[in-house]
Amino acid sequence: MLAMNYRGPRRVRVDQKPYPEIKHPEDAIVRVTRSCICGSDLHLYNGNVPDTRVGSTFGHEFVGIIEEVGPAVDKVKVGDHVLVPFNVACGKCVFCQQGLYGNCHESNAQATAVGGIFGYSHTAGGYDGGQAEYVRVPYANFGPTVIPPDMDPDDAVLLTDVFPTGYQAAEMGGIQPGDTVVIFGAGPVGIMAAKSSWLFGAGRVIVIDEVNYRLEFVRDYAQCEVFNFREMDDPVVFIKKLTDWIGADVCIDAVGAEARGNVLQTITGRKTLLQAGSATVLHWAINSVRKGGTVSVVGVYGPTDNLVPIGNVVNKGITIRANQTAVKRHLPKLIDHIQSGRVSPKAIITHRVPLEEIADAYHIFSEKLDNCIKTVLIPPS
Ligand code: NAD
Ligand code: ZN
Repeated sequence: MLAMNYRGPRRVRVDQKPYPEIKHPEDAIVRVTRSCICGSDLHLYNGNVPDTRVGSTFGHEFVGIIEEVGPAVDKVKVGDHVLVPFNVACGKCVFCQQGLYGNCHESNAQATAVGGIFGYSHTAGGYDGGQAEYVRVPYANFGPTVIPPDMDPDDAVLLTDVFPTGYQAAEMGGIQPGDTVVIFGAGPVGIMAAKSSWLFGAGRVIVIDEVNYRLEFVRDYAQCEVFNFREMDDPVVFIKKLTDWIGADVCIDAVGAEARGNVLQTITGRKTLLQAGSATVLHWAINSVRKGGTVSVVGVYGPTDNLVPIGNVVNKGITIRANQTAVKRHLPKLIDHIQSGRVSPKAIITHRVPLEEIADAYHIFSEKLDNCIKTVLIPPS
């Protein structure tokens, strides 16, 4: 079968690989009909995730048709059209029982912090991903979810990660009616976080990025205010001014470790560069949220990144909430939002590319060329 093949930082291609095997009675094999490239794949693509092995197949956002099932699978059957949450989760362990499906204890033998994730390095369990014609899906009685017959598969594929992640970002923010929410990042996750913030009753939603076409998209799609941080002297001061010097009630980090921009500090009237790169969004969020406010982090960081200005967290009494999204927990609500017409996630799909053209697809998404927001890969039928 054809599958993505990682060759090292910024080098991906498609090759023939062996058809996946049922290894456990609860496994299923899914024939992939659509898979996406995610901002999370860029951390792998750029070589920033530990133990990303050459030869691996990425892809944690996919839908398809059940091709085969192991003898213990009874919740889905051959021929079912399913969406598969990006978490590899058993549904039974001590964490899954609490709904923490992103922290499943069984699916990642290393059990450091993250649960298993499809196509996301050996740090996340070493599972093959869905940027392929076929993929092995463990715990098939729990994860794969039959797609409602009236649902567009383009909407369904965005239920495997980005819509639930934007929604959980807003949920973890604890948004109260009328709150001002500032979202850093106008990628697919930030866009869905903006849309979701209104569902929780936000009074004002502000999105910040440096890529104008993404800002224009989210302004129209989620009716929010947008600003380019490259046009600001200091984003923290800018947000303070916008909020009568109080600060935002909730800040959402939808960027993660590949953040750009600088953290500035004004000491005795002189502006000093405190830090650049990966720490920026966490600093901006913590410094521009109000006292007693909440910073919700869905942006992905390395397991040992050490970037939080803890003094400001303590002094301002800030709550920080963060996690990998527990996709399955959100599905009933989000399916309802799609079916009622309140949210149309598929509107963010800008590119539809044959799987064989994966190298170009990654390049375009990564470099933000051609007004790219979300790319769907289509395997040969
Ligand atoms: P993306 O790469 O398409 O978008 C990130 C956006 O952030 C880009 O538009 C970029 O221009 C912008 N950006 C860079 N620096 C910035 C800054 N300093 N301030 C504001 N914006 C800045 O990625 P995505 O698919 O939208 O994903 C966003 C993040 O969410 C990634 O870190 C991804 O790994 C993470 N993620 C987490 C989960 C989870 O379960 N927690 C799930 C999916 C994605
Ligand atoms: Zn993703």
